[in-house]
Amino acid sequence: MNEIEGSWFDGDRSRRRGARLRWGSGALALLPEEGGRISIDPQRLQMSSPLPGAPTRLSWGGEDSFVTMDEAGVAAMRRDLALGGGWLSRLENRMSFALGAGMLCVSLLVAFAFWGVPAIAARAAFLLPVEVSDDLGDLLLGELESWLPPSELTEARQAGLVRYFTSRDETDASPRVEFRASEIIGANALTLSATTVAFTDDLVMLAENDQELLAVYFHELGHAELRHVEQKVLTASAWLVMFALLTGDIGVVGDLLLGSALLGPALGPFSRALEREADAFAVERLLAAGESPEAMISILEKLEAQSGLMVSVNGTASDENGSNRDEPAPDAAISEAEITVSENTDEGFLLRLLDIIASHPPTEERIEYIESRIAD
Ligand SMILES: [Zn+2]
Repeated sequence: MNEIEGSWFDGDRSRRRGARLRWGSGALALLPEEGGRISIDPQRLQMSSPLPGAPTRLSWGGEDSFVTMDEAGVAAMRRDLALGGGWLSRLENRMSFALGAGMLCVSLLVAFAFWGVPAIAARAAFLLPVEVSDDLGDLLLGELESWLPPSELTEARQAGLVRYFTSRDETDASPRVEFRASEIIGANALTLSATTVAFTDDLVMLAENDQELLAVYFHELGHAELRHVEQKVLTASAWLVMFALLTGDIGVVGDLLLGSALLGPALGPFSRALEREADAFAVERLLAAGESPEAMISILEKLEAQSGLMVSVNGTASDENGSNRDEPAPDAAISEAEITVSENTDEGFLLRLLDIIASHPPTEERIEYIESRIAD
């Protein structure tokens, strides 16, 4: 029987009267208990939302309404008469559509931010004029001045190393090599832009021979030639702009871009992928120059040993029993702005930030890669 029971209110009298709603083949009628029959145009029928457990109110224009608790009956009537589900359920449908569309938008944005932006930045980095890289190198050297005071190596030693590097380097435009003293970042080398790399005196001192320094130079040259710093800066800028567009606060972006907000990304560590690229580049160049990549392994081992020492001095690394030995070692240098920083730094913010987000491949992994290349 296509019928539901409920109460009928005719608007004139607030008294509830028993009635049935009957439907069939596109027709709908109200049958009051007291007798009679009122035809209803199904097209005019309006329903309050059929929320579970709540009565459903049906009206059809005018003052009349019919209230029922028969959810299953209402559902059957809607199905038979092909009726919509009332304003709330229409809204629910619309809302789930909007929600779905919103989620899709967010997913696309996230995917674009994580894959699209870096991919575009990787290409765009090569379109930047060389002057931009020169300026970037100058800017970063200026910002790092307090961390990287002038080198104490003799002019002759510095010039000799640069001559040696460039003599083994087949590229036309070798980057400028800066030497700097540094108590803060210890033995390290940094790529500051496609045209600027820096070595610390400690690194020069740590190396057993110049071949080891050449290996480091080629690694940095990899970062430089592949425009890794420019990629990081472009990616960070694009993220900043995206963030501003999403939050609507575009003014902040201008301030940040003109300020030193991009310093962090520029000096921050390279991703593992970029580190591997630079390692692969270095091995190629060493082989092309007739040098053994063994030099790269030996300097990596020295840096690793040194960073372990520094970290334990700081009391943040493994205990004496070596129970933390399985943890990835703190990045040995040749990892840019590598952070085995002692406590005496007040400029700790950036360094700590870099430490947190450091993601270089562990030295062990890098050595394994180089060994595999030697074996080839
Ligand atoms: Zn590196």
